Amino acid sequence: MSQAPLQMHAASDGYLLQVVGVGKVFRNAGQVIEALRPINMDVKAGEFICLLGPSGCGKSTLLNIIAGLETSSSGEVLSNGHAISGPGSDRVMLFQDAALFPWLDVQHNIAFGLRQAGCPAAKRDAITKQMISLVNLTGFERNYTYQLSGGMRQRVAIARALAINPSILLMDEPFAALDALTRDRMHIELESIWSATNKTILFVTHNVREAVALGDRVFVFSARPGRILQEFRITLPRPRMLEDHALVDCTSEIMAVLRQDER
Ligand code: ADP
Repeated sequence: MSQAPLQMHAASDGYLLQVVGVGKVFRNAGQVIEALRPINMDVKAGEFICLLGPSGCGKSTLLNIIAGLETSSSGEVLSNGHAISGPGSDRVMLFQDAALFPWLDVQHNIAFGLRQAGCPAAKRDAITKQMISLVNLTGFERNYTYQLSGGMRQRVAIARALAINPSILLMDEPFAALDALTRDRMHIELESIWSATNKTILFVTHNVREAVALGDRVFVFSARPGRILQEFRITLPRPRMLEDHALVDCTSEIMAVLRQDER
């Protein structure tokens, strides 16, 4: 009798994502840049993880390696116990620029990945409708991207990513270009989308308040070469209010760790 399912479970230890000794050195035209010191990180299904650190500390590099868009110089990334060797439909990346297709309207942008995957029209339409409702864009189905605000564009990007049903959303400073009020609203939207879908999220930011507002766990990175300085478990109740004293205290504690590293 095959032992494969048991072995797979043992290999992943119940973790959806494992980053094992992942380091990265860029070598370009005689220049050697150590971006990441070996990183270890275990993530359970459904967790909201924030990767926080100063610009240039290697957060995006780590996210790109997890997405399979970049190779590591050492270590490996396991998804469900299997070493990844490139991009996969289990992991979807979202960027600061929503990167929508300007020639498609909202519903066709959201349906794009499903169409590519050969999903039949009726099922595609049903999923698209469900995603539009999830991101609160009902009524905007026929709008083109130039007719949308920055926050709405990001909601379309989130819906498009979720439509293909990945287990992990990889978000690289997705709200950094938004104004402060829109960003706060997007935090509330994302938190509600996350609790409705039970997805696992890895969210890169250099904004301490954003990390504390969103994360179950916050991994604080050192300046380059990036390594994990400290991991914070944020147990504040949700939805979190930025003005809440406990959240402000938590933010100050993390700021102190980052300041200490600057010295
Ligand atoms: P962060 O996302 O934390 O701002 P990055 O991961 O973008 O940081 O970059 C980490 C370091 O690696 C930076 O010093 C950056 O210049 C360098 N880097 C990133 N990509 C490349 C590349 N393709 N070639 C050379 N250096 C790179």
